[in-house]
Amino acid sequence: MNIPFIDLKSQYESMKAQMDAAVIGVLESTQFIGGPQLNKLEESLAAYTGAKHAIGCSSGTDALLLAMMALEIGPGDEVITSPFTFIATAETIAFLGAVPVFVDIDEATYNLDVSQVEGKITSKTKAIVPVSLYGQPADMDELNALAAKHGLAVIEDAAQSFGAEYKGKKSGNLSTIGCTSFFPSKPLGCYGDGGAVFTNDDALAAKVRSLLNHGQTERYVHKYIGINGRLDAVQAAVLNVKMETFPAEVEKRIAIGARYSEALKDAVTVPEVKSDRTSVYAQYSIRVKDREKTVAGLQAAGVPTAVHYPIPLYKQEAFASLGCDASDFPVSEAVAAQIMSLPMSPFLTEEQQDAVIAAVRSNA
Ligand SMILES: *Cc1c(COP(=O)(O)O)cnc(C)c1O
Repeated sequence: MNIPFIDLKSQYESMKAQMDAAVIGVLESTQFIGGPQLNKLEESLAAYTGAKHAIGCSSGTDALLLAMMALEIGPGDEVITSPFTFIATAETIAFLGAVPVFVDIDEATYNLDVSQVEGKITSKTKAIVPVSLYGQPADMDELNALAAKHGLAVIEDAAQSFGAEYKGKKSGNLSTIGCTSFFPSKPLGCYGDGGAVFTNDDALAAKVRSLLNHGQTERYVHKYIGINGRLDAVQAAVLNVKMETFPAEVEKRIAIGARYSEALKDAVTVPEVKSDRTSVYAQYSIRVKDREKTVAGLQAAGVPTAVHYPIPLYKQEAFASLGCDASDFPVSEAVAAQIMSLPMSPFLTEEQQDAVIAAVRSNA
């Protein structure tokens, strides 16, 4: 049995006629930047998340960069974030000349341990960047309350959690500003690079729109130093087709995640999703005692796996100058040593799910 890690092929086949027509429509229109596809996408992303403003941009990394630029994060500032995430979360902080200040993660959800955040706030702290890891929103109410108390912004890195809910509200629309990614393997993926920024703040939205187009406010009038961070029309067209089935895909992801967890909970550490939120399982990640053995056993059984993430950010050479001490992050250390991700896609058949479950149970 062939079990893809993320089944983009079945997804494309399920919507091929519409997808091909949409992409060819852009080619025939020759409107490759901006235009009706982007406008339609931004309207549907805003309607879906409930955010007043949804702004398409060139990637999840650029969404983070644009959010931080709009908040004027730069040299002299500190930004509190998780060390157990994809590098883009902290890379963008450092790229702008600010200092990422890592706080260890919660052992149950792998998201920022809120109880340790306030102790890291200093007079230089400008923002908190929680990551809604693997598709489950972080403890946003507690973080927003801390931020309000100390006059900070909260930037949700919702690259993995688009479609997830927190107390009935959609991830991306849970704080000052939210950022997501449409990288192909994310829950909502395009056919190249893409991302979006969400906010309810009119001034921040206008600034992000300007920054992603070279700081322009009207043609050839530049108010800010910006970037080229636009989302192109082909990607917007792809996303418009995928948005039609996305809510149903989210339901399937949640159901498959629940089925995995029910079948595996006595054999391995399954993901813990808090009762007031959902996870879209960008990754369905388990913890095992002997990862090398389990990965090898699954590989022999034809089940592909991946590790998100083997090296916490404080151990990356790129962050060596921060001088972090791994012993300050015991939970990240333990989780990085044991975590592994299983195949996940809304197109996984029950037969494929059962094969994954059986292989994990006999190799855990
Ligand atoms: C994927 C990802 C990003 C970056 O998104 P790109 O679209 O690849 O630039 C940022 N943060 C997290 C947590 C991610 O998983």
